[in-house]
Amino acid sequence: MQSESMKPVVAIVVAAGSGSRLGGEVPKALRELGGRPLVGHSLAALADGGVNRAIVVIPAGMMPDFETVLADSPIPASIVIGGAERQDSVLAGLEAIVGDPELATAGFVLVHDAARALVPAEVVARVIDALASGAVGCVPVVPVVDTIRRVTESGSEVVDRTELCAVQTPQGFVREVLHRGHLSVRERGLQVTDDAAVIEALGERVVLVDGSREALKVTEPLDLLFADAILRNRW
Ligand code: C5P
Repeated sequence: MQSESMKPVVAIVVAAGSGSRLGGEVPKALRELGGRPLVGHSLAALADGGVNRAIVVIPAGMMPDFETVLADSPIPASIVIGGAERQDSVLAGLEAIVGDPELATAGFVLVHDAARALVPAEVVARVIDALASGAVGCVPVVPVVDTIRRVTESGSEVVDRTELCAVQTPQGFVREVLHRGHLSVRERGLQVTDDAAVIEALGERVVLVDGSREALKVTEPLDLLFADAILRNRW
């Protein structure tokens, strides 16, 4: 039997969203930052943090464009076509893993938003370490810095921000549990915004580790400016 340390750690990099809030001609994951597409930065960070195989989930009709970019990937990366919602895209990635004899032995899977292109390798490594130490699911988080108000029918009220944290990716899981969770979510017709919620729907618990503000999700044009500044600062 292969020990856990010999099995591949696989990442599903979801890049099948339209990126309509960012605008532009190409899908968000192909937008360049410092001369490299966002998805290329994500793959480099995952590789540096300990991931050794990747499945990149892309929009239909974009295969040649992504193939060109992935030719430079530091780890072997295969491509699958995503679905209408993020959760459909993650499930497509999980099914691709099971369908590949080299990947089907993977005990752990990380799910990463391609748009969190500048996630530091230390965050990736922390997630993998938590899984290696026995966590079924692991989520990187950062404190909420803004004061948050909940809008109610009668007005609004402050929410105690010391009880809150913002969730990032990569989120890590025991692969079989996440796959079972996604199949169950689909069967029950549930809508989820992240993968931690998928395993919690099975009654499993997730462990939190420190994320990083540098792992911002490039969503709007302003985020590209922030990301560019972070990258220049690293250089
Ligand atoms: O839209 P949102 O910001 O939540 O998307 C997060 C990530 O999920 C992005 O990297 C996006 O490309 C991906 N996604 C996907 N398939 C979808 C919707 C979003 O892979 N149908």
